[in-house]
Formats: sequence, C-alpha cells, structure tokens
Amino acid sequence: MMETADVVIVGGGIVGASIAYHLTAAGCRNVLIVERETHQGKGSTGKSMGGVRAQFSTPVNIQMSLYSIPFYSSFDERLGFPCGYRPQGYLFLATRQSHLTYLRDNYQRQVSLGLKTVRPVSAEEIRAMYPQLRSDDILGGSFCSTDGFVDPYSAMVGFTQWAAAHGARVWRDAEVTAISVERGAVTGVTTSRGCVSTRAVVNAAGAWAAQVAAMAGLALPVEPLRRMLIPTEPFDGFPRQAPMIIDMTNGFHFRPEALGFLLAWNDPTETPGYKTDFDPAFIEKVLTRAAERVPVFENLAVNPKRAWAGLYEMTPDHHAILGPVEQLRGFFLANGFSGHGVMHAPATGKVLSDLILTGSTDVVNPELLNVSRFEAGRLLEETAVL
Ligand SMILES: Cc1cc2nc3c(=O)[nH]c(=O)nc-3n(C[C@H](O)[C@H](O)[C@H](O)COP(=O)(O)OP(=O)(O)OC[C@H]3O[C@@H](n4cnc5c(N)ncnc54)[C@H](O)[C@@H]3O)c2cc1C
Repeated sequence: MMETADVVIVGGGIVGASIAYHLTAAGCRNVLIVERETHQGKGSTGKSMGGVRAQFSTPVNIQMSLYSIPFYSSFDERLGFPCGYRPQGYLFLATRQSHLTYLRDNYQRQVSLGLKTVRPVSAEEIRAMYPQLRSDDILGGSFCSTDGFVDPYSAMVGFTQWAAAHGARVWRDAEVTAISVERGAVTGVTTSRGCVSTRAVVNAAGAWAAQVAAMAGLALPVEPLRRMLIPTEPFDGFPRQAPMIIDMTNGFHFRPEALGFLLAWNDPTETPGYKTDFDPAFIEKVLTRAAERVPVFENLAVNPKRAWAGLYEMTPDHHAILGPVEQLRGFFLANGFSGHGVMHAPATGKVLSDLILTGSTDVVNPELLNVSRFEAGRLLEETAVL
C-alpha cells in the first residue's frame, strides 16, 4: 500500500525538526521527516556556532528572534530535553562613528518591537568589562543579555524526539529524488525508500534547498557558501562567562566553548559552492585578527585537525525564504537562513506550522519572507550578517 502523510518534510536538520515539532504540537500528527543521511545533523546544523541573538537590523529578523529566544530559554521545560541555552549575551564593538549610528538605530528598532534586554554600552564600560580587549579605538557598543548560545545538535534531537513521541515519523537514510505535481498542486514525493502520497511538502533541505525546489520545477535563489570555525585549545586568559564578542572593524567574532574559544570570521573572498573542506590558510587570517583585538590571544594554540567547515545557505537579501509558493499548491519553503537558521529555527517551525495548517501567522508578516519578493523586487536588506 502507498505510504501517506499529511505533511512531508524534506530534510531532518534543526529546521525540519522544529517544523515537525510545531506541527505535531498543533495537533497535526501524520508528519514524515525524510532525511537522506543515516544521522540527522550532518548538514549545517552539526557545523553551526550555535549563536542566538535578537540584535538584528530589520524588524522581521528581530521578530523571528523575539519568538525564538524565549522559546530556547523554556525549551528544556517544554520539550523535556536540553537545548543548552546559555544567555551570555552578544557584545558588538563599534570602532567607527558609522558603527555607533548603526547600533543606535538598531537599538531603537529592537526596543520598539519589544526587546527589553538590549542596551548601548560605553567605551569605558567595555574597557571595565573586558580589560583584555585592545580598546584604544573602541567608541562604544551594544549588549543584549538574552542573546547567547545553544547546542544546535541537542535542540534538533529534542525537537525530533518530541515530534516522534507525538506521532511524527522520521525516515533516515532516505533521499527525496522527485516531487510529483498535478494541475499546479503537490501530490507526493518519491524517495529512495519508496513513494509517499501527500498534499503538503516542506523544503527544509538547507544548503541543498535549490536542488529540492528544482524537483518541483521551482528556481530557488539559495546558494551554498562555505564558513569555517576554529576551536582553540584550552585557554584561561579570557573570562569563560564572556558573551559572543564581535569586532565590527572586520567582523572577527569569538565566544567561549568548552575550555577554549571558538573563533570565526566571514572571509569576504569566499565564493559560493559545495566546499566543505577546511582550508588551513584560514587559521592565520583569523589568528591575526584575533590578536589585533585581544592581545592575549597571541598565545592561543589551535589544532588544525579540530577546525571545520560547513555551509551557509545564502539568499540575495540575506533573509530566509518562508512559506507557500503561489504557483505550486502544497509546496512550502523553509530555506535560505543566511547564517541564522539555528537561532531562527523555533520561529520558522511556528510560522510554517501556522501557514500549513491555517494559512496565516502572527509571528511575522509572512508576505515579507515569501519567495515572491524576488520577482516583485521587494528585497529586504540585513546588514548584521555574521
Ligand atoms: C560554520 C557555521 C556556523 C554557523 N553559525 C551559526 C550561528 O551561530 N547561529 C545560527 O543561527 N546559525 C548558524 N549557522 C547556520 C545554521 O547552521 C544553518 O542555518 C542551519 O543549521 C540550517 O538548518 P537546516 O535544518 O535548514 O539545514 P541542515 O542542517 O543543513 O539540514 C538540511 C538537511 O536536509 C537534508 N537533505 C538535503 N537534500 C535532501 C534530499 N533530497 N532528501 C532528503 N534529505 C535531504 C540534508 O542531508 C540535511 O541533513 C552556521 C553555519 C555554519 C556552516
């Protein structure tokens, strides 16, 4: 007999798992996640830095975080599983007047939308908080105490297990290879484990989203872009309770991780493609910037074998693409997070579940994130991409 599901989710990373959680929590139980790998988390979710923040510049990204961060803070109670939320904050360091203006404008927007835990910080305060920072050029900054970090893998497992305990099924080692469409509506998917009849398919395929969309005849503007992270060896020369600290001069950022630190930088010379090899030349580029801002980092030891690379899923305006596809009934998108898929996974699950089950949502204005914005020329611009 042909398998059937009310909703098929293509991709079992944190986004697919959150959608499954929100659908089952809303009472839609016959949900099937199809994941091509033998284990979930082998895509970007398992490679992420786990940063969560509400300090964005556009209202829609701020609103996505205003749902997601309180969700993460109550995750363990709601789901009976830890997500590792650590509200250690995000501290942006401004070194130019334009940075200060940008942070002040963002602050006003964030507060007007209801964020209560963000505040401007003076250069003196930053110096007092972290005397280890080179601060002769720091003009001020912005700090939000509820920003912080989660364990993306654990959150993904928590979402999946809750959904599975409430009716959802997960097919691992099963690849979606085709999507059937009849008279402008989705009717099913073909997988390496057989066909499934369904009237709703969600594309949650991360950096591979354009390939899945193409199976339904849709050109989706989502491109993979390599991002690399460097974990350091144990280091006790900087406080363990530090927030994510972002040097706005060049985008270098770091946060405590285990007994060391996790170092990141957005290399502007990186080009799109499915590259997941770690380039050892990246280490010197990052360590140079690290030592410029944190002189004690000159003594940091790193082991190139522990560093890794993963893929961001970039859209032309650095905002996610969420919701239905007008010309293809029953096909839904949860793609293109442009580096924010972990922090926005809870809101994405809620928005998708709302749109699939009721056709509307009050988390955000879904029109803003609909794929139709590209053809209509209604692009958004988020400049706070890390
Ligand atoms: C180095 C790095 C650092 C990052 N740091 C942060 C951060 O600090 N904060 C943050 O919020 N985000 C961060 N991100 C981004 C974040 O990791 C992603 O946005 C997020 O994990 C996307 O989740 P996803 O479930 O959409 O994708 P994925 O986790 O990639 O899951 C997609 C899944 O779809 C599966 N799939 C693909 N095609 C098919 C198919 N045809 N059939 C079946 N299955 C299929 C894949 O196997 C994969 O498991 C970072 C990313 C990287 C690489």
